[in-house]
Amino acid sequence: MSNYNYDSRSVCAECFSDEGIKNFIEGAAESNECSFCGMVSNEPIAARFKSVATHINDSLYQEYDDAANCMSYVSAEGGYLGETWPTYELLVDVIALELPRDEDDSLFNALVHRLDDNAWCQRNPYSLTYAQETEFGWKHFCHVVKHQRRYFFRDGDQRDSEILSPGELLETILNYALRIGLIVGIKRGALKVVRARPQREGEKFEAALDLGPPPLEKATQSNRMSPAGVVMFYGSDQVQTALRETAQTLGSGTYALGEFFNAREIVILDLANLPGIPSLFQEIPDSMEYNPRPVLQFLHHVSWEISQPVERDGREHIEYVPSQVVTEFVRSSSGEAGRIDGIRYPSAVPPGLASYVLFADQDNVAVPDDKRPSVRGDDRWLELVARSERQVTTEDLRLAGRNGQTCD
Ligand SMILES: [Zn+2]
Repeated sequence: MSNYNYDSRSVCAECFSDEGIKNFIEGAAESNECSFCGMVSNEPIAARFKSVATHINDSLYQEYDDAANCMSYVSAEGGYLGETWPTYELLVDVIALELPRDEDDSLFNALVHRLDDNAWCQRNPYSLTYAQETEFGWKHFCHVVKHQRRYFFRDGDQRDSEILSPGELLETILNYALRIGLIVGIKRGALKVVRARPQREGEKFEAALDLGPPPLEKATQSNRMSPAGVVMFYGSDQVQTALRETAQTLGSGTYALGEFFNAREIVILDLANLPGIPSLFQEIPDSMEYNPRPVLQFLHHVSWEISQPVERDGREHIEYVPSQVVTEFVRSSSGEAGRIDGIRYPSAVPPGLASYVLFADQDNVAVPDDKRPSVRGDDRWLELVARSERQVTTEDLRLAGRNGQTCD
């Protein structure tokens, strides 16, 4: 192995697919030529292989370790008590490191040679990984709120020290959302939310109160974010999304569309606009007080869980409970996060777009020449700005797929 003299070589960002490694190389580029793929430029494109390998090696220790440091070794059992991988297996099977230009494996071999020659294992091999903690914490939370208790979490919850208790999980959502900057103010008039409402033969919904949140006595359904009896306003940022989500369950026919805006500044928790999960190899700036990778893994997990489609076959009364509890917790927030007026979450139908639940009932709808008795300080912040009508056909529904949810 001594003839591997890779330390004087340089490697370019194109030789890797991982964004974190690419960024590291771009920040440390000093050579105009890549020793591995042969790419040449008139600007620096390649960093010293030695420093790239050191960066990869150091980053690996954030989530992996040398089994010799942390695992029990029992000769009679045939070695370490736990799963270990030699370096090449860690890179190929565990990390799935992609080297798009490495046709002759020279870069791969150089990395294996240069990285620590460990029996690699999961960091803290006898504890849960961060991803497992999140997954088990969410499952535990769902189990408790679906099948054990739903309304009080702030007692001394008997907990396994590794798994978040339901109360801690809820606190974590808001704490992480604050760190990442997902609790955002929206200036007056800057929010547009569309709600679609089916019209039967002869019905025509035109007034703000008909197109906005339903009256309390009509809130008899269990919805994604609100249990029966609690009124919230569901809508989407686009007409297509509003139609698809509503029409999916209610079927073809004529739909009235109401477009609302916020008549005062509001604050929402935006779970539909999460930054991507950074790579293990992304350098964390010194100014950053926490590692964003586990924080974003957690938030992506929660956001995905609460936007999954649920069939309305009776199970929705149970399946929607976790997202309803999260929503109620967000709604009652008052600490550092301040008061929150709604949640933006990824739409299940179609994926990639967003829906809103706003903590507004009919008392929050602005009505022209309002004669209603004043309630709760007249916080009438939801205002109808446009109204239209659409015909939805069975063909539209077929194209939109089968998943769905309703909006009131
Ligand atoms: Zn290259």
